[in-house]
Amino acid sequence: MQCQSQPELEQLVAEARGYARLGKAADYIPALQKVDPELLSVSLFYPDGCHFTAGDGNQKLTLQSISKVITLALAIMDRGAEYVFERVGQEPTGDPFNSIAKLETINPSKPLNPMINAGALAITSMIKGNSIKERLDRILDFIHDLTGNSAVSYNAEVASSEFETSHLNRALCYFMKQSKVINEDVEELMELYSKQCSIEMDCLALAEMGCVFAMDGFNTETEKQVMPRDVARICKTFMITCGMYNASGEFAINVGIPAKSGVSGGIMAAVPGKCGIGVFGAALDEKGNSLAGLKLLEMMSRKYSLSMF
Ligand code: GLN
Repeated sequence: MQCQSQPELEQLVAEARGYARLGKAADYIPALQKVDPELLSVSLFYPDGCHFTAGDGNQKLTLQSISKVITLALAIMDRGAEYVFERVGQEPTGDPFNSIAKLETINPSKPLNPMINAGALAITSMIKGNSIKERLDRILDFIHDLTGNSAVSYNAEVASSEFETSHLNRALCYFMKQSKVINEDVEELMELYSKQCSIEMDCLALAEMGCVFAMDGFNTETEKQVMPRDVARICKTFMITCGMYNASGEFAINVGIPAKSGVSGGIMAAVPGKCGIGVFGAALDEKGNSLAGLKLLEMMSRKYSLSMF
């Protein structure tokens, strides 16, 4: 079963919208406060190019943690899976996304997975290039291949807002530098990571990226294999086990789709073999996931039988 029309999708958005009032936009990155938390938008993108957008359609969002899936794919292509997973683990944590606790208690200070901040920072440090600019351009080029849109860039205001305030992420980096998981200059890594998290697009572009993962790394629009099948498989597996932070188990039961959220309120979902979904609603629950976005995905999963399980 698949979505047949935009009014159908508008109906679901209208039902989910009210949940935004129960949460609030992230405030630890000050620039993320600027958005109206009650806006909600969704896009669906199918492999044949058919797409639907509903709600507050064309607002832009920054990727935040959604970018962790992108850099994971690029790091595996740059270094190989063996190198990557010698340094970053493959297990869910059950802790908040920015927790430092397990870095100290798990020996030998290997971050548990690439979807928490510690793991994602280690992954970003693996992206090849001779300068921060070159590495960021490589991330952006990859995103251009995923979205088929070469205009996608980063939001400089959000990037500097994060760069100036991410004391906890710096602490994670120094912890990992001590144990040689990270070997580069922390300020440079923070610059690259803040810019990566601030890459900006609308829900439709998010859905297009989701569709590439859903189609095992093949961009059906540009007819280009953007990443090896195996890399897409690994990314989707992490999206299921760790993509919604410490709410991933509940999400697997209630929605059952590989997905990745970000503190901007965005969610990118990849329904294997079927379609990509992009959602944006800035009001978050206490675990950092979009409240109305989660509800909306839950309703869509039930209505269109999207769960893999
Ligand atoms: N840029 C954010 C951070 O590192 C990403 C975290 C998130 O989206 N959960 O804090």
